[in-house]
Amino acid sequence: MQIIDGKELARIIRSNLKEEVEQLKEKGIQPKLAVIMVGDDKASKVYVRNKSKACEEIGILYEEYLLEETTTMDELLSLINKLNEDETINGILVQSPLPKGLDANVAFRTISPKKDVDGFNPINVGKLSLNQDCFVSCTPYGIIKMLESKNIEIEGKHAVIIGRSNIVGKPLIQCLLNKNATVTVCHSKTQNLGEITKTADILVAAIGKPKFVTEDMVKDNAVVIDVGINRTDEGKLVGDVDFENVSKKASYITPVPGGVGPMTVAMLMVNVVKAAKNNM
Ligand code: NDP
Repeated sequence: MQIIDGKELARIIRSNLKEEVEQLKEKGIQPKLAVIMVGDDKASKVYVRNKSKACEEIGILYEEYLLEETTTMDELLSLINKLNEDETINGILVQSPLPKGLDANVAFRTISPKKDVDGFNPINVGKLSLNQDCFVSCTPYGIIKMLESKNIEIEGKHAVIIGRSNIVGKPLIQCLLNKNATVTVCHSKTQNLGEITKTADILVAAIGKPKFVTEDMVKDNAVVIDVGINRTDEGKLVGDVDFENVSKKASYITPVPGGVGPMTVAMLMVNVVKAAKNNM
């Protein structure tokens, strides 16, 4: 069994980006990301801090808009529109979840597709499904990079994804399909889940339930990707996979923490640099 070290891979990606950004700056191009956060969701604060730290390390300018919990949809949309028009900004991101009463989908579709570095605007979602050049949603993008980093064959393999969220499961279907995998997606209404997961060459868990995937659900030598980030009562981070037991069966497995999480941030940085280059 080999661990796919997302932390190390993300470090290499950030280091390469740093060099690229230095070269862009010599040409007068300064990548810049604007992040909007509404309310003070605890987990979101951590994610936003990680994004700002990555920007600082790479040399991407970072601007943060912290809005009150009571912000109206009109106020949020008018800020997005202002940032859409700001030529110094290449990437815009609205951190989800938004407080009750604010519609994230409306926010995402208001972000200009050219600045939609999270890949959540329906234009980018559609382009991904047509296998056209676009901003790919960061978590699925990171998962593909992790598989590629170990030369894990995707073509012809059976990939099973547990979870069909708009930010992970659904875009990952397209990413894996574009790489010629045979893709099955499971969700809370799926029957005989364990029977399906046991047929997976590549199994991805994006559920949000600690240690949900147990060894009896996994085929020998499967590649297991754990997207889940769950905090235990003791404050420890655990994934959706029972790492200790599943790792004995898997050929490759991603840890939590230090797996998909850091890759998500790294791929956001890749997208911001891409947005800056698209503007050249
Ligand atoms: P959502 O809550 O949006 O989606 C969870 C999915 O799991 C749904 O499709 C749901 O099915 C499915 N599900 C829930 N219970 C079961 C069950 N018993 N059997 C089968 N399927 C089930 O979560 P997200 O996709 O946003 O996130 C999933 C996890 O990944 C979370 O822990 C989150 O924190 C983490 N995450 C990690 C990221 C990273 O960078 N590492 C990035 C984004 C998320 P249904 O659709 O039927 O409700």
